[in-house]
Amino acid sequence: MGRYIVFLCPRCGMPRYAREGQKTAECFYCGLQIKISSAKIRILARTEDSRAAREIVEKLKARRLSYKRLP
Ligand SMILES: [Zn+2]
Repeated sequence: MGRYIVFLCPRCGMPRYAREGQKTAECFYCGLQIKISSAKIRILARTEDSRAAREIVEKLKARRLSYKRLP
C-alpha cells in the first residue's frame, strides 16, 4: 500500500500531496516542478491513503484562504 505526503509548494506556498517515493510533482497553481526530497521541501503530514492526504490539503487551503481575508 502506498503512503502519501502532504507538503507546500516552495514557490507559492500552496499545499498539495503526492505519493511517497515520487520524484517530482507539478504545482497546480504556479506550475513549478517541485523536486520531492525531504531536505528541500517541508513535509507537513504523512498518510496511509490519498483520501486522507486530500482532506489535509483541503483543510490547509481553507485556512490559507481565511488568512487572506484578515485585514
Ligand atoms: Zn506553486
